[in-house]
Amino acid sequence: MRYVSTRGGMEPQPFSAILLEGLAPDGGLAVPESYPRFSAAELARLRPLSYRGLAFEILSRYADDIPPADLRAIIDRTYTAATFGSDEITPVTTLEPRLHLLRVANGPTLAFKDIALQLLGRLFEHVLAKDGITLNVLGATSGDTGSSAEYALRGKRGIKVFMLSPKGRMSPFQTAQMYSLADANIFNLAIEGVFDDCQDLVKAVAGDAEFKARHRLGAVNSINWARIAAQIVYYFKGYLAVARGNGEEVDFAVPSGNFGNILAGHVAKAMGLPIRRLILATNENDVLDEFFKSGRYRIRTAGETLSTSSPSMDISKASNFERFVFDLVGRDPAVVRELWVQVVRDGGFDLAGTPSERRLAESGFVSGKSTHADRLATIRHVAERFGVIVDPHTADGIKVGLERRDPGVALICIETALPAKFAATSTCCASTPRRSRRTSRRARPPDDPGCS
Ligand SMILES: *Cc1c(COP(=O)(O)O)cnc(C)c1O
Repeated sequence: MRYVSTRGGMEPQPFSAILLEGLAPDGGLAVPESYPRFSAAELARLRPLSYRGLAFEILSRYADDIPPADLRAIIDRTYTAATFGSDEITPVTTLEPRLHLLRVANGPTLAFKDIALQLLGRLFEHVLAKDGITLNVLGATSGDTGSSAEYALRGKRGIKVFMLSPKGRMSPFQTAQMYSLADANIFNLAIEGVFDDCQDLVKAVAGDAEFKARHRLGAVNSINWARIAAQIVYYFKGYLAVARGNGEEVDFAVPSGNFGNILAGHVAKAMGLPIRRLILATNENDVLDEFFKSGRYRIRTAGETLSTSSPSMDISKASNFERFVFDLVGRDPAVVRELWVQVVRDGGFDLAGTPSERRLAESGFVSGKSTHADRLATIRHVAERFGVIVDPHTADGIKVGLERRDPGVALICIETALPAKFAATSTCCASTPRRSRRTSRRARPPDDPGCS
């Protein structure tokens, strides 16, 4: 398997060469030259496999320059009951017939990002040890990515992590999780400012090629292709747990921010997994909902990005979106280049009336939006009806999923975090309704991610 840039300006590279970056030198994103396909017969053969077995079958198609025995050992050490709470790794809870919760947030930091980052930590270690080099990982986080990366890389040989976070702006749980780590290779840098200020610092450093090379800087951001590849596995796992086979189709509902999770669903579908619909849910920051409803992509400024009670989805420029658009325009890098010229010049683009409009309609994507009031009502409804407390992000996905539900088709809602991580919203709303939250991004009280 070789990887090319969505903008066409990169010589095809093997997996190990794109592992540490994700961003191509021409400003595009690394994508596989083609998606490996699983026939119905091959899919049936995957059915009896454990999560680890399934992960090997899928990841070995993408990471084919890592010796299979090494890859298998890395996967076996990553996806354990000790780290993810059960041997199923991503168990499915059936709420009622044809309505399921795929629980991918049982890793060390209680968010789904652990599924990919735990693997990435071990892949980094493997590749670095092989080449005898060291790496300094520099990142910015609004909460979940930072802790997930730190728990994946703590104590790893040859790797140091420098993580910038906005001082006083994460949930108390997230803050405690990150700042309590005492490993010698983890450096938490609290920045006076908001997430975008942290991100700008990282971008400024990333733009200095000489500094980057001298200090061996790497990234664990959401555009890392290995993260997407690792997330494909749980779509297969969820499908196999719910569908009986014979080409039975299912729908997935996915709370989305940087478009990494649902992109893995799109790739799983392209690989032959019988997914009918990918239901994308946004919160009040609804750039992607607008796109999937109209074909119009219109980015917002940081100032227009609202601070909500599902903070990991407070994103107006989804970094993985370009990979999806690459497929949408028939994998023509010239068209992607032109569209991103328009993003920079005009703040967006419109696919209505272009050949891509038909591919968009056939992509299986549908979307919807969920507000603070919707989150609270959904958390309350799911708790009363099914006895399960979900976190605010998961609630966004369930809200839109139920709206778009087809009674004849199994719906799998992805649980992206555990409620303990966002306790203020998840537990208080079982009783107290609260006014809709549409505050400016600087107006959010530091210790209050939800209702208070
Ligand atoms: C990161 C995150 C999301 C958004 O996922 P994307 O891959 O960025 O679309 C949703 N929910 C939670 C809890 C997250 O941490």
